[in-house]
Amino acid sequence: MSYNSWMFYSSKMVDLKLLRLMIQKRIENRAKDYPIKGMRPVAREVLNYRKLVMEGVSALLKQFPVFACKFCPEVYVGDKGLSIQTCCGYRRRVKNRVHEWVIGGLDDVLVPVEIFHLQHMHRDVIKHHQRFVFERVPAVVELCWQAGADPSAKDFYPSAHNVEDSCGDVNGVEPLSPGELRSIANGTLRAWEKHRNGVQKLLLVYPAKVCKHCSEVHVGPFGHMARLCGVFKYDSWRGAHFWEKAEVDDLVPPKIVWWRRPQDPIVLLNEWRDFYRHTPLVVNLCLHAGAIAPAKYHCMMKVQSFTRPVEVKV
Ligand SMILES: [Zn+2]
Ligand SMILES: [Zn+2]
Repeated sequence: MSYNSWMFYSSKMVDLKLLRLMIQKRIENRAKDYPIKGMRPVAREVLNYRKLVMEGVSALLKQFPVFACKFCPEVYVGDKGLSIQTCCGYRRRVKNRVHEWVIGGLDDVLVPVEIFHLQHMHRDVIKHHQRFVFERVPAVVELCWQAGADPSAKDFYPSAHNVEDSCGDVNGVEPLSPGELRSIANGTLRAWEKHRNGVQKLLLVYPAKVCKHCSEVHVGPFGHMARLCGVFKYDSWRGAHFWEKAEVDDLVPPKIVWWRRPQDPIVLLNEWRDFYRHTPLVVNLCLHAGAIAPAKYHCMMKVQSFTRPVEVKV
């Protein structure tokens, strides 16, 4: 290395060191502004609505069978399942098969999204070797915690606190009157909408990321470097995560499922599947129990449209 290039190299090193210090200082200063006082009530509300949604869905699952496919994430609300051939099998190994139904539970309806729990929001990026140091907790609970709410241990670690198992077993459960059901369904649907609205508000202020390849979520200003990407979830990619800005659907997946309208056949048929409509699963469950669909879902549900091609007589 010549003298000149050595000088250049060492001055560059100093610059990098300085730059790093400046960045760290900036991050520390920014940390002083968090959590934002005005957002605390929103975070507390989100936790509260989350609890109401879980309680409501658990109660409804005891009244209605919800079917989950044994091999893929598809779920269907209703008595008979459906014969639509969209099953992609275990780990997407097959295509266009008929689903095999078993009774679904709470986790099939409210998809758990778990993420790393940071001890400090503006700490350094989590490295791959630290992946077992950080606990995995529900994404929304972590977001609320970072936003200044005070989640309970039960919120953080539901499985360790014997959360009532809603396996959807309808046997031996006392049936509710249509009025009681409707009231639970309307309350659950309202809580679901408020829960998602609250998460959306928090995401406007608090940074969250999602991996484009494997849907791993991270709440915090940077992603993380724990290279789980592809090892468990996405077979063809085994590198680092590819972070993008996370939206409310990444933290609270709506899980869009088939919706059977009164004019549709009892078992939805594969041949006319382009004529059938969809709704988010929680909305579907609540409508099934007598709730009224908010106007924003009407377009998606196409309540009045045809169930099969119209035969034109010549
Ligand atoms: Zn399936
Ligand atoms: Zn990934």
